[in-house]
Amino acid sequence: MLEIQNVSVRYGWHQALFDVAANVRRGRITVLLGTNGAGKSTFLKALGGLVPTEPGASVRLGGVEIARMPAHRRVEAGLALVPEGRGIFGKLSVAENLHLGGFAHRARTDEKARLEHVLELFPRLRERLPQIARTMSGGEQQMVAMGRAMMSRPDFLMLDEPSLGLSPLLSKDMFRSLRRIATEADIGILLVEQNARLSLEIADFGYLLENGHIVGQGPADELRTSPDVLRAYLGED
Ligand code: ATP
Repeated sequence: MLEIQNVSVRYGWHQALFDVAANVRRGRITVLLGTNGAGKSTFLKALGGLVPTEPGASVRLGGVEIARMPAHRRVEAGLALVPEGRGIFGKLSVAENLHLGGFAHRARTDEKARLEHVLELFPRLRERLPQIARTMSGGEQQMVAMGRAMMSRPDFLMLDEPSLGLSPLLSKDMFRSLRRIATEADIGILLVEQNARLSLEIADFGYLLENGHIVGQGPADELRTSPDVLRAYLGED
């Protein structure tokens, strides 16, 4: 389990997160919904160690406190992030991007097996291994980014708006891959999404973040039919 408590983040005078708490379970998909500027990306970056949290934050991964570790040690502890905009190395090949993802000590011993697992999840990448990453389509680049994160052998995988820029069909495929990753590899997924409808269809649990505060939470099938959620995130009265 990934147990998160008291995560507050300030950007100078602007406070973006206020004592945010959440739990992410292995083998499950947890979605974080919120309107623009709610603090979703900030939350993932704070968990990944890419922006500093205020004193008092606690992030426990399988019982180990990682809240004060630098970013690379959090990856070693089993937490991987697929950032918004994917963050792949455009000039490198698909194979090189995947290799860089396997750089964590925890993944070095079985890189071949990891690669095989990633190529099973995303068969399209197998035929594209030598291709320069920036020449891949948006959907393929998303696969590279997810594959690279999977190469670090994470216990928990965080994704920031993976469906951004993908067609509805590709988004569905991508969400289906997430479901497989969670269930087959027993990985806990924390997903930030604007696409509330699709993400609540595949998620197990959801949190609602507004203005840096958690304002609601519950099983995804309950959130799907909650009048507040329908109004705020699905544009329905
Ligand atoms: P979106 O869905 O639009 O990507 P979000 O929920 O991911 O939004 P964040 O990107 O986390 O929101 O931003 C939360 C708030 O913090 C916003 O008001 C944003 O302007 C502010 N913010 C984010 N990054 C910085 C920064 N580096 N410096 C100052 N303010 C920032």
